[in-house]
Amino acid sequence: MEYTIWQEIQLPKYPSLDRDITTDVLVVGGGICGVLCAYRLAKKYKVVLVEANQIASSRTCKTTATITALQDIRYRDLIQQKGIKTAQLYLEANLECLREYEALAQEFDFDFERVASYKYFKNNKRLMEEELKAIQKLGFDATIADDYAICFPNQAQMNPLKLISQLLSHIQVYEHTPIFKIKNHIAYTKQYKINAKYIIVATGYPFLKWKGLFPLKLTQNKSYVAVIENTENKESFHAIGYEEGDLYFRTYKNKCIIGGNDQKTGKGIAGFQPLMHYIVRQYPHHRISYQWVNQDCVSVDGLPYIGPYGNFKRVFVATGFNLWGMTGAMLSSMILSDCIEKKKNRYSEIVSPKRRSPVFPILKNTGTAIVNLIKPKKRCNHLGCALYFNKEEQVYECPCHGTKYNQQGDIIFNPAQKKKKLK
Ligand SMILES: Cc1cc2nc3c(=O)[nH]c(=O)nc-3n(C[C@H](O)[C@H](O)[C@H](O)COP(=O)(O)OP(=O)(O)OC[C@H]3O[C@@H](n4cnc5c(N)ncnc54)[C@H](O)[C@@H]3O)c2cc1C
Repeated sequence: MEYTIWQEIQLPKYPSLDRDITTDVLVVGGGICGVLCAYRLAKKYKVVLVEANQIASSRTCKTTATITALQDIRYRDLIQQKGIKTAQLYLEANLECLREYEALAQEFDFDFERVASYKYFKNNKRLMEEELKAIQKLGFDATIADDYAICFPNQAQMNPLKLISQLLSHIQVYEHTPIFKIKNHIAYTKQYKINAKYIIVATGYPFLKWKGLFPLKLTQNKSYVAVIENTENKESFHAIGYEEGDLYFRTYKNKCIIGGNDQKTGKGIAGFQPLMHYIVRQYPHHRISYQWVNQDCVSVDGLPYIGPYGNFKRVFVATGFNLWGMTGAMLSSMILSDCIEKKKNRYSEIVSPKRRSPVFPILKNTGTAIVNLIKPKKRCNHLGCALYFNKEEQVYECPCHGTKYNQQGDIIFNPAQKKKKLK
């Protein structure tokens, strides 16, 4: 298993479920999203969190943990596609999430720091100016820095596992407790039942196969990360490029975390190489202390899915964070706790899983699935798509929904739930 810089923090270990139980709220999935939802709700309800493996052992331990409204999504495009009101609400939602993290930082020490976020547009000044205009139209005070970047002041970054380790003492947790089925508001492990008034599914990719039609609405993108030691940063900052695959940067103490070459899982394009070429050129004398690959669920319109799960009345889902799950997870905790408390939330409509999806990406996802369902190959245990062997990472990947298996057939990333015999 690859280790990441955040795993220098030792998280507590928890028992697995050993009997049937009843609770007000069950949270399924112990990443940042599940933990933040459980922490918020535990102030008012009896909450149980169950995790299939160990807390924060999937996407969350491999994040880069910047908390910012300056994301891959372009506000210019969001205004064009969804209108100014939706774009404004999305920007405001992210800024509110930042303030929520800042409030947590009054209580907990998790290396939270306010930093500037930059988006650089090396070869496209026109797009930069259009994007800046769009952001300013939404009422946010962004500026141009160094002639080729948009600067969002006062964004933030953190150590996510340091935060989670402290929030956990407020939550009842069972590890190594995968849920396989939800029926009539009862969640089932292989042996036991959990009876809950409300259930939140925060499993990264939602684990019920067709519920909510997520196989049509979600794919997974992966991205490669390395930590460079002793970079003597003059200031703390975060920066991303405007194009998919561009490198991104954040500082952490005396280190620089660099990532990039984002691509759809299952595509098999060399991953670490471009990143390593850059690092060797720019930091020839620096030590690389960690390197890892992570992936996340990507929605068809760039916004997450947070709200009711399919036709369930009291089961909710949070997914599709598009590699921006620090704010996505906080937003989920705010919206879903309001859902449970029957309060109105001003952001819930723009991220509702029931919103209309754009047709072209749905057709594209369907096309990929059809092609990969008829190819004669080893098949994924999720919905039977052909698996591809990724030589660089020595793993099998599903190009439809992004399950990743190691060579022993263990699942590294869901949605598949069953180990696969690969040899
Ligand atoms: C390279 C990279 C860098 C990133 N950097 C940033 C960043 O700087 N800022 C940012 O905002 N976002 C970033 N992200 C995105 C962010 O890391 C994710 O969106 C976030 O960690 C997702 O958290 P989660 O809790 O939804 O999922 P996860 O962390 O995957 O947690 C889900 C948990 O559910 C468990 N589970 C699954 N199925 C079941 C089941 N059936 N029963 C019980 N448990 C189950 C899993 O074991 C897992 O622990 C990045 C993503 C990548 C790929």
